[in-house]
Formats: sequence, structure tokens, C-alpha cells
Amino acid sequence: ESFSELKLNKQIQNAIQEAGYIAPTPIQQQAIPLIQAGHDLMGIAQTGTGKTAAFVLPLLMKLKYAQGTNPRALILAPTRELAIQIEENVKRYATYLDIRHTAIYGGSGMKVQIEAFENGMDLVVATPGRFMDMYKKQIFGTREIKTLIIDEADKMMDMGFMPQIRQILEIIPVKRQNLLFSATMPESVMILSEEFLEFPEKIEV
Ligand code: AMP
Repeated sequence: ESFSELKLNKQIQNAIQEAGYIAPTPIQQQAIPLIQAGHDLMGIAQTGTGKTAAFVLPLLMKLKYAQGTNPRALILAPTRELAIQIEENVKRYATYLDIRHTAIYGGSGMKVQIEAFENGMDLVVATPGRFMDMYKKQIFGTREIKTLIIDEADKMMDMGFMPQIRQILEIIPVKRQNLLFSATMPESVMILSEEFLEFPEKIEV
């Protein structure tokens, strides 16, 4: 398998090439076509499998280019470190695209994070608490969010984020695509996935 068999545009192919990737990893081969077909997805995968690109690449294809004022996609991460790491991946893969993206997380001043929204936003990577704090301050609207991705769902549950995730599910549109990634599938993640995914495709690598 090669990246050229996946439906990714020239700009993304160029960014992948510059990153030095030769071929898609197994999770990328499996997940990218399913995400592009519009399915909800449950991906069981560890860090190091290339899971981040597996969801970021088709998401960038879906977002296409800068549009409107409010974010159209949300990636939730349990920690500041993971949010920053995902945002760095987004930045790399979106180098040749016109897409506005940012990471917001606690433990850091809100002012600089707010400034990023001044010229509109397409994709937000966030920790759940900071996302709700900035929503309550009306920094952005949530009615345009058509894709929700939860990364490291098991860690998210261990850290007690279920109430915040439920709050977020209440303020975003019902009609949307949902992706969940987790290294393990404990009962808590099964419960989350039942509340959040609709007829998901399941992949395990
Ligand atoms: P992740 O599992 O998303 O944390 O990714 C682990 C590492 O693999 C990161 O450093 C990525 O840059 C790298 N990576 C992702 N996809 C590929 C690929 N197709 N070929 C080579 N490296 C990759």
C-alpha cells in the first residue's frame, strides 16, 4: 500500500513526503478510507502506531479550506502535552493548506489562546475543561462542529473527564461524525463509546 492509493490531495501528499513517510501504517490504511466514507469509528491503537495521522489526514481533507468563523472540528485530548503534540501534527500536515487550527488547554494563560480565534477557526484541539471555559466566555460557537474526535479515551476516563465530555456533547450538533481512539477498552470506554458513537466501524492494530 502507498499513500497515493488513499484519497489525499496533493498538498497533503507533499506534507507527508516532507515528513519522510514512505507508506501508510496499518491503522492509517484501515482508518483513512472509513473516515472518508463518513463512518463513526472506534480505533484501538497504542501511541507509536501512527494513529494521529490516521485521524488528522482525513479530517484535513474534510475541512478543505478556511471557512466561516466558528470551528467545524474538535479533537479532545486528556492532557496539555497530548493536545500540543496533536496540534504539532496538524500544523505539519496542514503546511500547504489554508486551514486555521489551534490548541487550547489548561495550565496556561487564556489570553494568547483567545487571540488565535480573532480571524476565525476551523479546527480546535482541546482539553475538555479549557474547551468548556472558553465556550462559556463565548470565545467561539459550537454549532458548526461536524466532527468530534476523542483521543486516548481510556486516559480521558481515568482522569474523570466524563462529565465534561457529556457537557460538550450537549452543546454541539447531534448530526456529526465521531471518532474515538483508545489504547485499551475498559468498561468506562465502552460506556463512553455507546453514548457517543453511532454504528461505529471498529479497528484494532
Ligand atoms: P502516533 O502513533 O500518532 O503518536 O505517531 C508515532 C510516530 O510515527 C510519529 O512520530 C509520527 O510522525 C510517525 N508516523 C506517523 N505516520 C507515519 C508513517 N506513515 N510513516 C512513518 N512514520 C509515521
